[in-house]
Amino acid sequence: MRRPVTKAIYVFVGQIALANSARDYEQRDLDFVSRMATHYALALERQRMEEDLQVAHGRLQGWVQELEERGLEMARLNEMGNLLQTCQSIKEAYIVIEQFTASFFPETSGVIYSFNARSGLYESAIEWGDELGVEGIFSPNDCWALRRGLPHVVEDTSSGLLCLHLGANLPQGYLCVPMVAQGETLGLLHLQCKPGDSSGAICASETARHHRQELALSFAGHIALALANLKLSETLHDQVVRDPLTGVFNRRFMEETLARELHKAKRGRIPLSVIMLDLDHFKDFNDEFGHEAGDVMLQEMAHFLKRHFRAEDVVCRYGGEEFVVILPGASLEESRRRAEELCGELRNFTVSFHGQELGPVTISEGLAVYPEHGGAGDERVQAADRALYDAKRAGRDRLVIAA
Ligand code: GH3
Ligand code: MG
Ligand code: MG
Repeated sequence: MRRPVTKAIYVFVGQIALANSARDYEQRDLDFVSRMATHYALALERQRMEEDLQVAHGRLQGWVQELEERGLEMARLNEMGNLLQTCQSIKEAYIVIEQFTASFFPETSGVIYSFNARSGLYESAIEWGDELGVEGIFSPNDCWALRRGLPHVVEDTSSGLLCLHLGANLPQGYLCVPMVAQGETLGLLHLQCKPGDSSGAICASETARHHRQELALSFAGHIALALANLKLSETLHDQVVRDPLTGVFNRRFMEETLARELHKAKRGRIPLSVIMLDLDHFKDFNDEFGHEAGDVMLQEMAHFLKRHFRAEDVVCRYGGEEFVVILPGASLEESRRRAEELCGELRNFTVSFHGQELGPVTISEGLAVYPEHGGAGDERVQAADRALYDAKRAGRDRLVIAA
């Protein structure tokens, strides 16, 4: 915009100078030229100011846009936080998180790993964007961010310090952020530039990169806090409903579940089976191998029962060396087959304890089924208990079906 106006003024002043050079200078000509020069200077000044104003306006627009984007991100973070607060399990929380990942990081691909405390490994829980080819499971030692407990940024993978959990296809750059809350690392957020995309969030300008990293930290922090809260409430819930020695459900939970499942069975006119089982001569087992070995046998027996029955069946420790299994939807025939198979499989079941082989042990079982053996929940348990007693009297290592 400066050029056409500036040129016009130059031409105009030039013409006047030419015209004046042709005759003698007079005072009024000099005044005129002086006025023109002042106008020219003012015009230039105005132009400069307009340009400055435009630059400032552009900058302001950029800030407004950035503020709007930050506002949207904050709103999205809040929305995710609110939804996470209403989740009742960690599994549910991951479903919520998955809805938000791509909207927070549209220019990057990524993975959220969850920490499996049992194996001590990080396992891929959510992935979005391109196929990354990163390790699905890895040890904390394979990640610099987890080792140091700090975010690890690599802007150029041809020269940076690389984590071992990256796949063979190296991205242009990547970012790992540990998900830490209440002093515990619950997972890892891993973001990658899309290959060949130099405008990708991690590889973009310094400001964009800085912002993306800040966002990744906030996002990881929100998730970590929600997961920590859910983990705590799951632990508390577990303490209420699970048996501390074997990890299967306790008697109280069994009674509540049985009442609920029986209600469903009646409404849906479907069968429901209850198996009560007791380890044979377990007192002798304790006497022979010791109480600690007895505890290990009970733990392994609980795991064995969980493996043997279906995922929807509910395995509970009724007390001592007695277990109850609720089989929703299982008919008399189905549950009889399962119970008999169990007796058979246990004949080969041994447990190794301090280099010593424990077992095999035998069990006695009583089976009662709805609707065949009464309508109320405790009737079924009593019927199964009586059948179990009959199995003991009949010589143990067998199944007896309630009369
Ligand atoms: P039966 O075949 O008639 O069931 O004989 P049994 O010896 O298994 O039955 P009894 O009721 O006489 O003894 C149950 C044994 O189970 C005695 C008890 O020490 C043991 N027991 C109960 N709870 C635990 C436990 O948590 N750990 C260990 N190690 N043993 C337990
Ligand atoms: Mg016993
Ligand atoms: Mg017993």
